[in-house]
Amino acid sequence: MNSQDIRSTFLDFFKNKKHSIVPSAPMVLKDDPTLMFVNSGMAPFKEYFLGNAQPKNNRIADSQKCLRVSGKHNDLEEVGYDTYHHTLFEMLGNWSFGDYFKKEAIAWAWELLTEVYKIDKDILYVTVFEGSDDADNLGMDTEAYDIWKEYISEDRILKGNKKDNFWEMGDQGPCGPCSEIHVDIRSAEEKAKVDGKSLVNEDHPQVVEIWNLVFMQYNRKADGSLEELPNKHIDTGMGFERLCMVLQNKTSNYDTDVFTPLIREIETITHKDYGKEDKVDVAIRVISDHVRAVAFSIADGQLPSNNGAGYVIRRILRRAVRYGFTFLDKNEPFIYRLVNVLVEKMGQAFPELKAQKQLIENVIKEEETSFLRTLEQGLTILDRIVETAKGIEISGSKVFELKDTYGFPEDLTDLILREKGFTYNKEDYKKRLEEQQSRGRKASELKSDDWTILIEDEEQEFVGYDTLETNVKITKYRKVTSKKDGEMYQLVFNLTPFYAEGGGQVGDKGYLEDQHGDVVYILDTKKENNVAIHLTKNLPANITEKFKATVDAKQRYRTECNHTATHLLHQALREILGDHVEQKGSAVHSKYLRFDFSHFSKMTVEELRDVENFVNARIESKLPLQEQRNVPMEKALEEGAMALFGEKYGDAVRTIRFGQSIELCGGTHVNNTADIWHFKIVSESAVAAGIRRIEAITNDAVKSYFHDNNRAFFEMKDLLNNAKEPVKALQNLQEENTALKKQIEQLLKDKAQNIKGQLKSEIKEINGVNFLAKKLDLDASGIKDLCFELGSQFDNLFLLFGAENNGKAILSCYISKNLVESKGLNAGTIVRELGKHIQGGGGGQPFFATAGGKNPDGINAALSAVEAYLA
Ligand code: ATP
Ligand code: MG
Repeated sequence: MNSQDIRSTFLDFFKNKKHSIVPSAPMVLKDDPTLMFVNSGMAPFKEYFLGNAQPKNNRIADSQKCLRVSGKHNDLEEVGYDTYHHTLFEMLGNWSFGDYFKKEAIAWAWELLTEVYKIDKDILYVTVFEGSDDADNLGMDTEAYDIWKEYISEDRILKGNKKDNFWEMGDQGPCGPCSEIHVDIRSAEEKAKVDGKSLVNEDHPQVVEIWNLVFMQYNRKADGSLEELPNKHIDTGMGFERLCMVLQNKTSNYDTDVFTPLIREIETITHKDYGKEDKVDVAIRVISDHVRAVAFSIADGQLPSNNGAGYVIRRILRRAVRYGFTFLDKNEPFIYRLVNVLVEKMGQAFPELKAQKQLIENVIKEEETSFLRTLEQGLTILDRIVETAKGIEISGSKVFELKDTYGFPEDLTDLILREKGFTYNKEDYKKRLEEQQSRGRKASELKSDDWTILIEDEEQEFVGYDTLETNVKITKYRKVTSKKDGEMYQLVFNLTPFYAEGGGQVGDKGYLEDQHGDVVYILDTKKENNVAIHLTKNLPANITEKFKATVDAKQRYRTECNHTATHLLHQALREILGDHVEQKGSAVHSKYLRFDFSHFSKMTVEELRDVENFVNARIESKLPLQEQRNVPMEKALEEGAMALFGEKYGDAVRTIRFGQSIELCGGTHVNNTADIWHFKIVSESAVAAGIRRIEAITNDAVKSYFHDNNRAFFEMKDLLNNAKEPVKALQNLQEENTALKKQIEQLLKDKAQNIKGQLKSEIKEINGVNFLAKKLDLDASGIKDLCFELGSQFDNLFLLFGAENNGKAILSCYISKNLVESKGLNAGTIVRELGKHIQGGGGGQPFFATAGGKNPDGINAALSAVEAYLA
C-alpha cells in the first residue's frame, strides 16, 4: 500500500465509525503560551479537553502535522541517527470528547490494524499502566487490561510504568493512563535469539511503538494533585511514517515512499550514495527529514528568524546545512532544490505547500546562503584561534563566543579541532552556555497559580462587536508572576466586551467599576485556549459582585481604523502587484499597522503611490461594513473570502466585507471606511527573501504626521527667509554650497603647493638622510598628500610634521621605503613613541604613520626629539 492510501484508509475507517474528518491544524501555534508548535495530535483540540469550547461532533479523526524539536518533546538530536524519529511527522488520531471510551478505542484500533491493514497479530505487543505507589497512588489500569485480553494473548500484554504509560498534557491539565501498541519487525532468526517482549520500550529500532491510546480520565491541578474528570476522553496518536514502514515491509521509515523520492534527489544532487557509509547516511536522513520540517513551517507562516519559533526553525535548517557541508561536501545551497520533489509527493494532501512553493524555495535558499557564509567565516576565525593557541587546549569561552557571536556550531568546532589535534575545555563551554540559558529563562518565566472558580461551567460570550460597555461577573481568576511584570491577576468573565489579542489585532484595554465606584484597570486582554483573559495589576475588592466593564473606546476606534485599512491594503496589493501576494503576518495596533506579504522585489515609488491612492479612494467612497457571523466556511469561500495559510478556522466563520474586499476575520472594524479619514504608508522594507513589509498609519496618526511635516516645512521656509518658492531657494543654496566647496578645495591645494615649494628648500641632510621636522597649518589629509608628494621627489626622506586642528594635536611621520629597509626605521613605532609628547597615541605602517593627541603644546617637543634622535 502506498503512503497516500495508508492515510486515506485510516480516515475512511473512522469516518465509518461516525467520526468527522478534519484537516490538519496549522503546526505553528498562536495563542498557547505553553507551546510553540503542535507536538501531538491533541494540541489543536486542547480547548475541547479543557471544556472551553464544544466540538460540533464529539468524534473526530485526522492526520495532524507535528513537530518535536523543543520543550517537553524534543527528538531533534535523535533525528538522522535512528530510523524512526523525525522532527516533522504526521500523527494519525481518533478522538472522543466525552463520548466513547476504552472499550471502543481498543476494539477499533485492533480492528484497523489486524483486519483492515492486515498486520500479523504475532508481531504486536500492547502495554497497560501498572499503577504507581508515589503521591498519586494509582492502581493498575485493569479496565484496559481486561479489554485487551479479549483480543490478544496475555503474554503479549505488558505492564508499563508511569514514564511510558501515563500521559500528561503538561504540568497541569487533563491526563490519564495509556496503552501503547508496539510492533516487532525483526527477522525470524533475530526473534528466535531474543524474545521481543524484552525489547519493548528499549529503544530497539525494529521493536517500536506505533500507536498510543490515551485514556484521559483525570485533571492534574497546580498543586500536583489529581481529580477525576466528569467527562472522559479518548486521544490516540499513531505515527504515520512508522505505520508505512510496517505496511511496506521495511525496517526504516526512510525506506518508505514518504522519504525515498527525497533521498534519491539528494543522491543525484550530491553524487553520494545512500546505504554505503554511516556518516553519509546520517547526513542524508537529516536533510531529507529537516527539509520537510522547514518547508511545512514556512508554509504555515513561520519563517526562520532570530527568536522564538522562528529561531527553532532556523536551527533545524542550519543543522541540515551543517550535515551537508560536513559529510556531503556541499558548500553551496542545495536543500532548496529538494522542495520540488517534496511538493510533488505531498502537495496534494497539503495544498499549502504547493501554493507557496516559490516562497519556500526562496527562503530556504537565502538561509542556506547566509549560513554557509557564516560557516566559512567561522572556519577562518577558528584557523586563527588554532594558529595563535598557546597549548593544545582551546578555552571554552572562545568556542562559546564562536557559537554565540558568529552562529558557528559547537559540534562542528569540536570536529575541526579534533582533526587538527586540538581539544577545548568542555566544562567551561557548558558553564557559559548554562549561564546564558538561565538568563534567558528567568526573564520570560511565568508562574501561575490554580484558577479560583467563582462560577462553575460558564461558557464565555464575546459581546464586543456590538458594545463597548456591559455588566459582567467574574467567573474565575488566578495570580500569575513573572520577573518582567511582577505579580498580575488574570480574570475571566461570563461575558466580555474586551477584544482579546488575536488575528494580528492588539487586545483591548479599559476598566471595571463595581457598584461602590471602585475601579480596576484592565491593562491587556489575551486569548488562551479560546478564552479571553483580562490582565489587571490588582484584584478587584468585591470580586463576587457585578461590575460594569468598559473598553477604552479611543484606543479601540484607532485600532479599528487600522484593521479596516489593513484589509483595504491587502486588496490593493493583490490588485496592483498581482495574485501572488499572500498575507504573511499583520500587526494591528492603535498607532500603526504593519503588513507582511509575499512579493519578490522592492516596491517602486509609483507602486506605493498607487496602493495609497487605491486605499484612499475606498475611504472616500464611504463603504459601509457588511458583517456576517456564523457563515459556513464553504459559503464564505464561495463568496470570495480569502483563507490564510497557517490560520485555524472553525466550520462557521465570520466574514468582513467593505466593497470588493472580503476577508475571513474575527477582528473589530469601523462602521464605514470614511471613519478612517486617510491612509498613509510610512515605510516599505524587506523582512526575508521574498517577504516585504509595509508600515502605515491612519486617522489621528496621519493628522499628526501631516501636522509635524507641515511645521517642519514652515520652519524650513522661515530659515529660507520666507522664500516664495522654498524648494527653488533650497536648490540655489545647495548649488552655491557646492561651488563654495570647490573654491575652498582649490585654495587649499594652492596653499599646499606654496608650502611644498618652501619646504623643499628647508630639507637638510643628516647622516645621509634628507630630513625635515616642522609644524604646519594643514589638516591630516593635506599633510598626508604633502608627505607623499615630497616622497616622490626626494630619496632617503624622513619627514615629521605636526599640526594643530580644532584644539587637538596630530603628528605624521613619513620614511622612504629604502630607509625602512636599510636602517630598520619604522614610522609606526616612532609616532607611538612621540605620541607621548602630545598625550596621545597612534600607529600605521612602517613608511607612514600618524598619531593624535590632546596636547598641542607638546608638538614642538616632539619635533625636536626626533631631530635629536636622528642626529
Ligand atoms: P517514542 O518513545 O518512540 O519516542 P513517544 O512515546 O514519544 O514515542 P507518543 O508521544 O506517544 O510517542 O506519540 C504517539 C505516536 O507518534 C508514537 O506511537 C509514534 O508512532 C509517533 N511518534 C512519536 N514521536 C515521533 C517522532 N519523533 N517521529 C515519528 N513518529 C513519532
Ligand atoms: Mg518520544
